[in-house]
Amino acid sequence: MRIVLLGPPGAGKGTQAKLMHDRFGLSHIATGDLLRTAVAERTALGRAAQDYMERGELVPDGLVIDMIDERLQRNGRSDGFMLDGFPRTVAQAEALERWLAARGMPLDDVILLEVPREELVRRLSGRRTCRNCGAMYHVAFDRPAQAGVCDRCGGELYQRDDDREETIRARLAVYDNSTAPLADFYRARGLLREVDGTGEPAQVLDRIVAQLKGRH
Ligand code: AMP
Repeated sequence: MRIVLLGPPGAGKGTQAKLMHDRFGLSHIATGDLLRTAVAERTALGRAAQDYMERGELVPDGLVIDMIDERLQRNGRSDGFMLDGFPRTVAQAEALERWLAARGMPLDDVILLEVPREELVRRLSGRRTCRNCGAMYHVAFDRPAQAGVCDRCGGELYQRDDDREETIRARLAVYDNSTAPLADFYRARGLLREVDGTGEPAQVLDRIVAQLKGRH
């Protein structure tokens, strides 16, 4: 299966990608995670991306497209994948389409996770992320057993710079302007599956699975 997870920041793309990975064994490719690793390792890509990320803006298409090209090549032909946080612009979607068409590997499904705006702000502003393994928690709804410590690996939990309230608003505006148009792009290709992203993660997963064409 080759799947794109679309939706605003805080819609639950990362959470659902992990659950889908556990269920179907698909590779989870998250451009935000790849970029944060590049920033932490101070690679040339990381240094070029850092300022954009801190402001909640998009990293330029050329950089992200080269990064995903390299990551997809490593993934190989036979493995499926779930893209989380890519594409985010029409130019990225067109580049992905060309890349996959050249290899005879079309997308099966594009899942659009829909969550009301106030709920997104609530989720993101309370989100805490493990510095070590990337696991996510929430200060009110999903607390770790010990404050500030990851249940899974014992790593330190922190608030991402771009999960602060001012930056959240900027990221949501970027989504509206640059990424929301992708719903029409994929609807026109018959690939868009709109899924209610509210409620418990397991419920959302069931809604997604019920809509997958690639499962059959
Ligand atoms: P995320 O973890 O998906 O919320 O991404 C965090 C940040 O990484 C975004 O706010 C952007 O600055 C950058 N980023 C991630 N994916 C992309 C992408 N496909 N295109 C441009 N910038 C991206």
